[in-house]
Amino acid sequence: MTTSMMRGAVLYGREDVRLESVPVPQPGPGEVLVHIERAATCGTDLKVFHRGGHARMLKPPTLFGHEFSGVVAAVGPGVSNFHAGQRVACHNSAPCGRCFYCVRERLSLCENLLFLNGAFAEFICVPEPIVRQNLLALPDGVCFEEACLMEPLSCVLHGVDRTGVRPGDWVAVNGDGAIGQMFVWVLALRGIRVILTGGNDHRLAVGNGLGAEYVLNYRKVADEAQAVRVLAHNGRGVDAAIECTGQPKVWEITLGMLRKGGIANLFGGCPSGTSFSVGTEAVHYNEIEVRGVFHSTPSHVREALGLIARHPGRLRPLLSCELPLSELHEAFRLMDDRKAFKVVIHPETA
Ligand SMILES: [Zn+2]
Ligand SMILES: [Zn+2]
Repeated sequence: MTTSMMRGAVLYGREDVRLESVPVPQPGPGEVLVHIERAATCGTDLKVFHRGGHARMLKPPTLFGHEFSGVVAAVGPGVSNFHAGQRVACHNSAPCGRCFYCVRERLSLCENLLFLNGAFAEFICVPEPIVRQNLLALPDGVCFEEACLMEPLSCVLHGVDRTGVRPGDWVAVNGDGAIGQMFVWVLALRGIRVILTGGNDHRLAVGNGLGAEYVLNYRKVADEAQAVRVLAHNGRGVDAAIECTGQPKVWEITLGMLRKGGIANLFGGCPSGTSFSVGTEAVHYNEIEVRGVFHSTPSHVREALGLIARHPGRLRPLLSCELPLSELHEAFRLMDDRKAFKVVIHPETA
């Protein structure tokens, strides 16, 4: 049997991505080969592109990209719940279900979390644990483009759950990128009053459209934390604040927005080796809570796809434009320049 070839973006190192001809993977037992219809860029891909790898997720040379949807091309032995021609969305990881953390239902902390990369290509082979837990049939009304948002939206839903807020609460979302915008939308849907902060008026306007009650450009205020506090509970501060930029300095500003007893959700992953400081008095006398949130879980993946299906077109503003695979560099440039929230990548037109 001759091996067929496909185009794929191979990451060799820092900002070194080459479109190459590589073998189409063959699905083994329990695996599913997906023909990728659309992929999407995300902040993590941008970091991987600039740093030339990712400590937890991948080592070059490697195919990369992790948000995608497509059509089942072939199934491996033993797969009965998927068939060729079926439209699917796929999450980029799966927990093992057996380790110390999985048995304690902390699935995002799984010691054997399996990651899938290679969405910037024509085909991808989905490993068995992901097929079993996080490969989902696409409902009829969901387009391939919006289906790519399932993974980041599932992380946001996990983040909202871990924040533990109720309708009528005030929540500050810090960061006007795609993740911050999705937080705004989900929180507003749940009847939470949202204050979005960011540095770009155009992006803040998108947040308004997704349900933010107030938007605040931090470049235009002297003290961002204070400017947020005065908006909630007669100046006491917000019930919760969510950090979506991945900068230690913003983690600290986020803590300063809270009322007594408030919860900080530090969601944005910072560069490795960095740290931030918290005043001891804020934790002791004000009883603020600091929570880190990482990635998502299979139930949040299902919830994300359900939300996308019930609200077609709602998250469209986050898919800024579409480019062929051959213009992946341009996609990252648009992300760097903050001209795109996300770029949809079309492998066929490469
Ligand atoms: Zn992502
Ligand atoms: Zn596990």
